[in-house]
Amino acid sequence: MSIICKSQSELAAMREAGKIVAGTLQALRELIAPGVTTRALDKAAERYIRDCGGTPAFKGYRGFPASICVSVNETVVHGIPGKRTLSKGDIVSIDVGVVYEGYVADAATTEAVGPVDGEASRLMNATSSALAAGIEKAVEGNHLSDVSNAIQMKVEAEGFSVVREYVGHGIGRSMHEDPAIPNFGQPGKGPLLAPGMVLALEPMVNVGTWQTEVQRDGWTVLTKDRKLSAHYEHTVAVTKNGPWVLTAT
Ligand code: MG
Repeated sequence: MSIICKSQSELAAMREAGKIVAGTLQALRELIAPGVTTRALDKAAERYIRDCGGTPAFKGYRGFPASICVSVNETVVHGIPGKRTLSKGDIVSIDVGVVYEGYVADAATTEAVGPVDGEASRLMNATSSALAAGIEKAVEGNHLSDVSNAIQMKVEAEGFSVVREYVGHGIGRSMHEDPAIPNFGQPGKGPLLAPGMVLALEPMVNVGTWQTEVQRDGWTVLTKDRKLSAHYEHTVAVTKNGPWVLTAT
């Protein structure tokens, strides 16, 4: 494993990519409503990213056909935008990656479509709090698995389960760099975090079993029990001054 540390100017460039990601997610939040197709979200995202001078990082990645992933309800991640319309009570996860001047930033959010039931809103709160707990541990001198463990503890304290087969990742000039970052594990293991490391932290959290399966399209990941799943992600730099969330609004 080789973790590429970024210089101050590289982090500044990644922050510019991160601002476009944040702006895209904000624009999509305003569009999410019952009756909107997932394809409409994709088109709006691509337009926003290109208008900012960026490139959608996911489009064409290993053949992925769209600019964003849109994952509704029991879809964990990698949902392909299409004809599906959002319905009142759905939860929808949007994952966006942007390349800007050679650097990539990656973030995701889960949003409610109109009012949702208590379980769905507890799931979303637990997942975003777990991400925040992981970010807090992304500091110089911690071990990588301190981040993983903080995420898992937060999720399991709420009675939900952490997906095992998909993990966070280092990020920089490539969308996926070392290290792989599981959202579970014992603390105190793995590499020591150092300034300049950039981590895409992304808990994927299920109401029921952590197990998943991939649909026949080769992309769409569903919960095995078809219960709800949520996904939040930020691109986070480890700095001398603590974690810097490069995809913050
Ligand atoms: Mg990611």
